[in-house]
Amino acid sequence: MTQITHRKNTRPVQVGPLTIGGSDEVIIQSMTMSKTHDVEATVAEIKRLEEAGCQIVRVACPDMRAAEAIPEIKKQISIPLVVDIHFDYKLALKAIEGGADKIRINPGNIGRREKVEAVVNAAKEKNIPIRIGVNAGSLEKRILEKYGYPTADGMVESALHHIKILEDLDFHNIIVSMKASDVSLAVEAYEKAAKAFDYPLHLGITESGTLFAGTVKSSAGLGVILNKGIGNTMRISLSADPVEEIKVAKELLKTFGLAANAATLISCPTCGRIEIDLISIANEVEEYIQQVHAPIKVSVLGCAVNGPGEAKEADIGIAGARGEGLLFRHGEIIRKVPEEIMVEELKKEIDKLAEAHYEE
Ligand code: SF4
Repeated sequence: MTQITHRKNTRPVQVGPLTIGGSDEVIIQSMTMSKTHDVEATVAEIKRLEEAGCQIVRVACPDMRAAEAIPEIKKQISIPLVVDIHFDYKLALKAIEGGADKIRINPGNIGRREKVEAVVNAAKEKNIPIRIGVNAGSLEKRILEKYGYPTADGMVESALHHIKILEDLDFHNIIVSMKASDVSLAVEAYEKAAKAFDYPLHLGITESGTLFAGTVKSSAGLGVILNKGIGNTMRISLSADPVEEIKVAKELLKTFGLAANAATLISCPTCGRIEIDLISIANEVEEYIQQVHAPIKVSVLGCAVNGPGEAKEADIGIAGARGEGLLFRHGEIIRKVPEEIMVEELKKEIDKLAEAHYEE
């Protein structure tokens, strides 16, 4: 049986200053909702995404007005910019000329060979990659006729078809996505793709839904894929503010130990033994640790009955007691603090641990 190409064994591809593939790192992406020709709105949205932890941003490029906005957008942002084009090679050329760090276009949809060559040559000249975006919902007619409906094999066949067009032009600066809104289909397609070629894979479950349902669906699907060692970049697609996509992506990567310098929170589900207002404290601490760039595990527990012992792996934590909080480290209580200041005390301890990590 063919082995899956683990994310760290894929070919490294450069997108601006970032290297995608060839390592264990999974890079977080999102896409703007604003009209790309509206530079001010697009830049403002990108800055919010960047602040939330987005590492690469994609913009839609449906017309020449959007393509012409690329240089100005590029000037005002600092994360790499991916320009999404459907088939119009002129838009691709304009976006590349304007400074796109990567374009998403399927070479098989561009049309005549000269047009494909023009796009490939322009990408070669600027040394930027092309992302082939295979989507179960828009497979080529001949593939659909062959398989009857969208299948993982059909999706891989489509990817290989587009890859071959680029490889025949001696272009290997390629990233591929295999998106589907059906989770099982997406999992199978990514697995088969990781066996069929060694180009980096961009992960996503398309049209996954609203903030709540889409988070569950994307996390279920992408979790399985990430856990198999597949995926070099990732976008959580939600019908919500894209900043939410970043939050979910970051949490998902933390879950699989794929976020190198992120703090994580362990909090108890609460029960009748609860001694503090745990839910609001957990939310406050979760918000606080977003800005901590150190691998610290923080625990917040409702009571001291089983709490500290159960959260032995936590670097620092707090457990509620009557009128006070017990600060503990690796399961051992270190001191008692009055309830009114226990969250502040916990934050100070988190800062100390983070400082120690930054100095290492
Ligand atoms: Fe209940 Fe205490 Fe466990 Fe929280 S830590 S679930 S309050 S026993």
